[in-house]
Amino acid sequence: MVGRSNVGKSSLINKLASRKGLAQVSKTPGRTRVINLFSLAKPGDEPVTPMSIVEHGVVDLPGYGYAAVSKKEKSGWPAMIESYLMKRESLSMLFVLVDGEIGPTKLDLQMLDWLRHHERPHMVVATKADKVRPSKLPGRRRDVSRACYLDPDDVFWVSVTSDLGVDALRRAVRALLIHG
Ligand code: GDP
Repeated sequence: MVGRSNVGKSSLINKLASRKGLAQVSKTPGRTRVINLFSLAKPGDEPVTPMSIVEHGVVDLPGYGYAAVSKKEKSGWPAMIESYLMKRESLSMLFVLVDGEIGPTKLDLQMLDWLRHHERPHMVVATKADKVRPSKLPGRRRDVSRACYLDPDDVFWVSVTSDLGVDALRRAVRALLIHG
């Protein structure tokens, strides 16, 4: 899972894992500064715990584009993320989170360009769907997907507040965890 700070990444990971405190939901944007790995429990399993090494799991990548971190950390981001994204063989899918209410930012589009250029498998997830009025959702779906150069059906829309789209995304993540 990757996306700019405050896009709703931690909330979504917690939701997918049905756990509150797994990924840190921050009041301060930009708190996820390391690569965090989680396994997702199968139905009926004990809740998941953060793991240092996982074979099949969900990865919370640092939010990009947040300025208020130390220079050292900031300069460490792109290299760390880039080498992870380029070299990790087991990375079967990258979910790029964009804010459904505001649409993809310049940095989101740069991320998508980069992934396309390097032919890394990815999907777009639009977060905070509850912030878009239901009557506006079809138009918003069209606009956001078009801005990402995708078809509307190729973008997952989710809300951790209303649960919209969460089951569908969870199924997709599970399928990837099982089949790679
Ligand atoms: P991160 O920095 O990308 O990990 O983002 P967080 O998960 O910490 O969320 C950033 C803010 O957006 C928090 O205040 C969340 O409560 C809020 N948020 C996250 N997902 C949703 C959502 O689906 N709907 C609404 N309305 N707010 C959300």
